[in-house]
Amino acid sequence: MIHRDYLIVGGGVAGASVCDALRQYDPKGSVTLVSNEPFLPYQRPPLSKSVLKDGTPDVDKLIEKNAEWYQKRGIETRLGTLVREFNIDRRLAVLECGQTIEFRKACLATGSRPRRPQVAGFNLGNVVYLRNYRDILATREILESEKYVVIVGSGFLGAEVASSLLGTGVKLSLLTRDRAMLQEFLDPGTADWLTEKFRGAGVQLLLNENLNGFEGKTVVKNVQTKSGLRFPAGLAIVAIGAEPNLQLVQHTPLSSPGGCPVNEFLESDEKGIYAVGDIALYPDRVFGGVRRSTNHEMAKLQGFVAGGNMTGRKRQKFEIVPTWSSAVLGMHFDFVGDFSIPHLLAEVEGSRDKQNFIARYRRGDALIAALLCNRKPEEVRKLQEDIRLSALSRQKK
Ligand SMILES: Cc1cc2nc3c(=O)[nH]c(=O)nc-3n(C[C@H](O)[C@H](O)[C@H](O)COP(=O)(O)OP(=O)(O)OC[C@H]3O[C@@H](n4cnc5c(N)ncnc54)[C@H](O)[C@@H]3O)c2cc1C
Repeated sequence: MIHRDYLIVGGGVAGASVCDALRQYDPKGSVTLVSNEPFLPYQRPPLSKSVLKDGTPDVDKLIEKNAEWYQKRGIETRLGTLVREFNIDRRLAVLECGQTIEFRKACLATGSRPRRPQVAGFNLGNVVYLRNYRDILATREILESEKYVVIVGSGFLGAEVASSLLGTGVKLSLLTRDRAMLQEFLDPGTADWLTEKFRGAGVQLLLNENLNGFEGKTVVKNVQTKSGLRFPAGLAIVAIGAEPNLQLVQHTPLSSPGGCPVNEFLESDEKGIYAVGDIALYPDRVFGGVRRSTNHEMAKLQGFVAGGNMTGRKRQKFEIVPTWSSAVLGMHFDFVGDFSIPHLLAEVEGSRDKQNFIARYRRGDALIAALLCNRKPEEVRKLQEDIRLSALSRQKK
């Protein structure tokens, strides 16, 4: 049996960040990172943007830390390897090949998987779900021969994919049950403005429509809506959200419908076992309640906090106003604060038409969130701080 001081399950940005912190606070402990993808941890945000649009950059350029970085720090990486069992009581993990790793401490960083709709034909050929680099390469190959593309979903992924495919010569439709693009996150005024921009750019929008199913024998030919619409599709890209990857710890205290419950130190009730990134359900020390963040920046920060805490030489709480970014129709958007419930009213500074504005969102008097379009990084940081202070003063009342 192999023995390790630290085992990291999952090689996304969160897992990579755990490695970074482990080595900063414990230069000697033995570390293994296991990932079922064949690449070292890489950044996913460009996948739905430039990688889908024109195939760049190559995955090597998306890798934050190269093989030499891991080697120099004595961190073993096992790529293309699935962890198929995780035994909490015995503190051991079984790999796909049957090998077993006994660990002192572990961090789960298994990320998310795309949600699949429970409709006819969801598994047909050319119905794709985007999560990793290979999914994007496969989609690009399909695009070489297919003209009619239907995107299902109007959230971040759907909006980014539609933007990336504009101008590539395909006939693009986007089907959503919502009445506007990014409706879950934006105030109605901003959502309507963005929706019109997509329409103006040439995307055929099918709003307020529920997916009924995909038709075809082995490969998708048509998409149907519940209202009876039927239109051709040589490729369907389904972007209706993602679910935490928790099969490994199903039916254990490390799995709940909302994610893997952890405390403010990102440690679960099972001492020495941590969870980070898209799977972690953590107490939100800023806005209250519990939260699962599913974005790059938070995954990276959580990895760093958990890695330090695992060594026992650092004790840090995860306490931050969430921020993330997205790029659609050539615009850069930053989201700061609490977007867990829709915002109805925005205070807009600047101009939507000039594609340069800040929309501030309040709950009562308190500033709780902001959306920035094409603004500077220092403005993002300033709003993050304003929102933090506003939340603190609300807590004191
Ligand atoms: C196409 C796309 C575009 C995105 N764009 C943005 C963006 O613009 N901005 C933003 O902030 N966020 C974006 N995100 C979200 C962001 O990428 C994620 O929040 C982030 O990757 C989460 O990191 P993670 O390390 O928690 O999980 P992941 O990145 O999902 O990594 C988890 C890894 O663990 C592996 N794994 C799972 N189970 C096992 C197992 N049993 N054994 C071994 N390995 C396992 C998985 O294969 C995967 O490699 C995007 C995501 C996607 C898919």
